[in-house]
Amino acid sequence: MPRLVPGSAVTSDPLSAPPAGSSHPAAGAGATLAEVAAASATCARCKLASGRTQVVFGVGAAAAELMFVGEGPGQQEDLRGEPFVGRAGQLLTQLIEGIGLTRADVYIANVVKCRPPGNRDPQPDEIEACAPWLDRQLELIRPRVIVTLGNFATKLLLQTKEGITKLRGQEFAFARAGHEAVLIPTLHPSAVLRSGGRALAESRADFVHVKRALVAR
Ligand code: URA
Repeated sequence: MPRLVPGSAVTSDPLSAPPAGSSHPAAGAGATLAEVAAASATCARCKLASGRTQVVFGVGAAAAELMFVGEGPGQQEDLRGEPFVGRAGQLLTQLIEGIGLTRADVYIANVVKCRPPGNRDPQPDEIEACAPWLDRQLELIRPRVIVTLGNFATKLLLQTKEGITKLRGQEFAFARAGHEAVLIPTLHPSAVLRSGGRALAESRADFVHVKRALVAR
């Protein structure tokens, strides 16, 4: 596991961009985030397409230094077309504001862009089909700090099977195609809402760590 220590080289290569000539629509979707978002709106690469109200691509600053990656849209997000607008989103907003930022300062996306039915977990084929959209978001935004919210984003971006409770609050190197960032996993806000007290304290501590990482780089 690539652990970032001060001054160390960034060595991980967690995601691979869609190969040139790939038939995935993300590969030729355009050169700006708005173009890629527009192209994603008609994506039908997995079975989640049939149950969605709309694709929930992402929201925030196109050149954000801090990017959050969650799991997938829930009912509210599916209806509004914006990630993290339900109860978990309110907690995420509070945590962001707790480190002196606003939602407009950051970028927020998910591993899968369409709502899994009944809020079930995204399945491996759905995650794989959707990953090139997240790839393009990372490639265009080039955040300096990436915060993965919960197991799905952490496992995808770190290419690990290790669980979030073990990884949370640590810094990992993220590097791909000339883009280097620090990746800090933290608990998913929905899990924090379910678990309460100690989990909330851990989240707050992780966000202080995120703030430090932003200032340090
Ligand atoms: N949970 C997520 O992972 N993403 C959302 O957008 C909302 C809830």
